[in-house]
Amino acid sequence: MKKLMYLALGLALIVGVYSCVSENTDQQQPQSISQDILKKIAALGFSTSNVVALDNGYLVEEDIFLTDKDLEEQLHADRKHLIIAKEEHYRTTNLVNPQTITVSLSGTVNQGFSDAIDHAISRYNAEGLTINFQRVASGGDINIKIVNTGQYIASSGFPSGGNPYPEVKYAKKYTTGYSDGFMTTVLAHEIGHCIGFRHTDYMNRSYSCGTGGNEGDGGVGAIHIPGTPTGPDANSWMLACLSATTNRPFTANDKTALNTIY
Ligand SMILES: [Zn+2]
Repeated sequence: MKKLMYLALGLALIVGVYSCVSENTDQQQPQSISQDILKKIAALGFSTSNVVALDNGYLVEEDIFLTDKDLEEQLHADRKHLIIAKEEHYRTTNLVNPQTITVSLSGTVNQGFSDAIDHAISRYNAEGLTINFQRVASGGDINIKIVNTGQYIASSGFPSGGNPYPEVKYAKKYTTGYSDGFMTTVLAHEIGHCIGFRHTDYMNRSYSCGTGGNEGDGGVGAIHIPGTPTGPDANSWMLACLSATTNRPFTANDKTALNTIY
């Protein structure tokens, strides 16, 4: 089986059962998460399997980071969302207002990774959307933060208040030895979460991961994007899993989804 890797989206689907996934799990032993926290995560509609405790929050669905504050606030939020179909394109309830979104990098990386950030930005800007992205030296609306972890490739979160999620954490081990296409795809994927896109196959992770189920409403909504197909989209940039050689420029359906929302 081709080695697959999770993109870091938050609430936990059982990592342990994905024997094909090893790059970003590093054989982590299950961590002890309090029943209180698990109840809150379950109340949001996420699986409580393989929740990973990180600084100030929890990683679920392999690449979505929920802060302690998120758990408290989302628990009280009104959650009436549409969940339709299978491998179509989905967005969260919250989107980003039209704006220029600045993107910065913190941490030491090689030129190739820095270039990949520019390439991810270019993929979005080529679409002529109502949001566009601009690289800045520091303090961006979205900061790409290099972290030393073996627990995930990258992680991010969803928008709030009309603004993008402010941070993409990217594991340093995936900044060298991987193709520009891979790094660009991971960055574009995480930025996709930051502006409100959910996994294309969130209803059935086995589509791209080979195994796994429904990620659930997750407290953030999963609204089908009109105009995107009802069938699988084999190369969507928002599929949940990828391999070390994956490159996913926007497909025709991805472009429809982006242009419909933005
Ligand atoms: Zn993801």
